[in-house]
Amino acid sequence: MKLNEYRKKRHFDATPEPRGASDIREKEKGSLIYVVQKHLASHLHYDFRLEWRGVLLSWAVPKGPSLDPAVKRLAMQTEDHPIEYSGFEGVIPAGQYGAGVVMLWDRGTWQPESADVDASLQKGEIKFVLHGTKLQGSWVLVRTRGFGKNPLRSAWLLI
Ligand code: MN
Repeated sequence: MKLNEYRKKRHFDATPEPRGASDIREKEKGSLIYVVQKHLASHLHYDFRLEWRGVLLSWAVPKGPSLDPAVKRLAMQTEDHPIEYSGFEGVIPAGQYGAGVVMLWDRGTWQPESADVDASLQKGEIKFVLHGTKLQGSWVLVRTRGFGKNPLRSAWLLI
């Protein structure tokens, strides 16, 4: 169900991107995947993804994450991606959704710092720790007010 939008946007006979398993399995134990993909699409951006409830919650960060805690980076929420996407690198052909080169930029695990992740996501403020190669330490994603009224296209800040 959660991957409907992801699949609707793509033609899997034309893109090398994974379709994702038909059944979404939530992890009961173990670490949660974190990944950032550099995406040279019509506009270069960084896709920031956190595994949650069997999918990758996803945000497109035009300028990429900043290591400066004083810098807030716009992060537009995008459709949930399949877990299999966390290993994806390749070229999405011209004419396809997101056409361009996708490269793994960072990968590791993440830990929520909020006790109730679902409530935090709903509320629009989630704190977490990243254990990546490039990114580590405490981060927060905060949903902004004002623009991005569509809940699937809401604007957040990555700090
Ligand atoms: Mn992208």
